[in-house]
Amino acid sequence: MAIFFDSEVCKSQRHCDLCRGSHLYRKSISNKFEVPEVDFECPLGKLIESESDSERDFPDYKTMARSLGNSLVEEANKVMKGVPAVSSDKVCERLEVCRKCPNFKGGRCRLCGCNMRFKARLRSSKCPIGRW
Ligand code: SF4
Repeated sequence: MAIFFDSEVCKSQRHCDLCRGSHLYRKSISNKFEVPEVDFECPLGKLIESESDSERDFPDYKTMARSLGNSLVEEANKVMKGVPAVSSDKVCERLEVCRKCPNFKGGRCRLCGCNMRFKARLRSSKCPIGRW
């Protein structure tokens, strides 16, 4: 199944602003109706890679959900303690390190599965291999 990313209408790697499609939603439709593969075409024809190829590179959804939950709890604790927000310079610095990293793919980290534009902004975030 195709996913959309890095087109002008989809910067989130999950959701297309033009067709409102989400590859997770599409997958659930395929499963529900027992259709082996539903091929929705991108209105812009920007099909980059198959979901199976792409998702194989990242941790499974359960692991990512647990990790996200922990990060949000840690973040909330830091906010409650008055820890200041991550400066935009620091966010750019982190993203620059990620962009040069071999684990960086489609805006995400292959090790934690996180969207780095989001993760780099969290006070509690750390690179899983200590690069920042
Ligand atoms: S968080 Fe660390 S391992 Fe992941 S992409 Fe960034 S630098 Fe690489």
